[in-house]
Amino acid sequence: MAVSDHVDLPTFMEGVKKRNPHQPEFVQAVQEVAEDIFDFMADKEQYHAQQILRRIAEPDRVVSFRVCWEDDNGNIRVQRGWRVQNNNAIGPYKGGIRFHPSVTESVLKFLAFEQTFKNALTGLPMGGGKGGSNFNPKGKSTREIMRFCQSFMTELYRHIGADVDVPAGDIGVGGREIGYMFGQYKRITNQFTGVLTGKGLEWGGSLIRTEATGYGAVYFLANMLATKGQDLVGKTAVISGSGNVATHAAEKIVQLGGKVLTLSDSGGFIHDPDGITQDKINWVKEHKTHRRGRIEEYVEAFPNASFHAGKTPWGVPCDVALPCATQNELLGEDAKTLVANGCIAVSEGANMPTDLDGVHTFKAAKILYAPGKASNAGGVAVSGLEMSQNSERRAWKEEELQQMLKDIMSGIHDSCIKYGDQGSGYIDYVKGANIAGFKKVADAMLAFGV
Ligand code: GLU
Repeated sequence: MAVSDHVDLPTFMEGVKKRNPHQPEFVQAVQEVAEDIFDFMADKEQYHAQQILRRIAEPDRVVSFRVCWEDDNGNIRVQRGWRVQNNNAIGPYKGGIRFHPSVTESVLKFLAFEQTFKNALTGLPMGGGKGGSNFNPKGKSTREIMRFCQSFMTELYRHIGADVDVPAGDIGVGGREIGYMFGQYKRITNQFTGVLTGKGLEWGGSLIRTEATGYGAVYFLANMLATKGQDLVGKTAVISGSGNVATHAAEKIVQLGGKVLTLSDSGGFIHDPDGITQDKINWVKEHKTHRRGRIEEYVEAFPNASFHAGKTPWGVPCDVALPCATQNELLGEDAKTLVANGCIAVSEGANMPTDLDGVHTFKAAKILYAPGKASNAGGVAVSGLEMSQNSERRAWKEEELQQMLKDIMSGIHDSCIKYGDQGSGYIDYVKGANIAGFKKVADAMLAFGV
């Protein structure tokens, strides 16, 4: 008698919890997907027979390694590094590297799982992976960062490759870190390949990769608003974060006629009732990215703004909200506040920024709510285009890439409507994204057999 995963959702989730003890983020990400996939799979015996969801929710491989490096005082420091290769059914593993003290195996497993669906949604041939370390880049000198990146790559290089697994940036990993890691890969292997994305423009990088995640999240938001006959002109926006995703989301909101009220970092948020204009965004980019300062100092430069220590910005009334910082930064209570204050749309720039309570609140309120795996896919999409350019040994023009990014985001929006239209004008974007992403990966897995 064949064993089948014809079990109900709670039993399935019990199994996931048991097999992944002390991994709450991973269990949460699987649950959010399973809640939608179970209904969809109900009458599709082929998925059950091959245990497809069970297999996607079990990473192909988790590589864990020690990273030793020397700090500026000559002390030897030891950190843990990981690469989670979740699924390569539709292309090489693809996903960022995160350096942050909150990084654990659970966090990277959830991110690699999410990435599998996100990458499928882009329509490009990329599987899902994620890597990183609990290394804290804050306060480290440039030379310390360099030595850490080199040491990290000395372990990682044997597990990746342009047709195997292509890492990129994420929290704590930007152009500088990609440069140090790419340099080390090249030194060790003597190969100049597209093994990483987010590279510098002089050495194989793609135009608009830096802007793509934030811009893409706003394009997706504009697509959602258009289903209600609305646009961003005159709309107020609350944004969390102040890194690459948040600042470029803010920039695109301003370009499309909206008014950005907030930005944040781990210390708290700033509220600028006059609106965070392009000049002010440039100040934030310079201050945060180049000088690695704190958002708190914004109020010294722009005294009409206020700083709210230790708080998230969700209590500020707004038309649209974009969580662009990190996972579980927007909780059930925050979601209720946003809805009560009249927020009509939420587009996630971060990965899983809304907890399960919050997701259920947005769904119940039937507002326009896009999960990160749909709305923040612009970054990895342009990474996919960087891979194509590297294979061709060419660099495409900015206008071409801008158009491709817009088309890809519209394509993801169409997929969400296809599988998430609930009738009477309500589109469940979470369900749409989950089913569209799942179907593509699942059908490829079916084709390959077990
Ligand atoms: N870290 C980004 C993400 O979460 C980008 C990954 C990539 O470009 O591979 O999608």
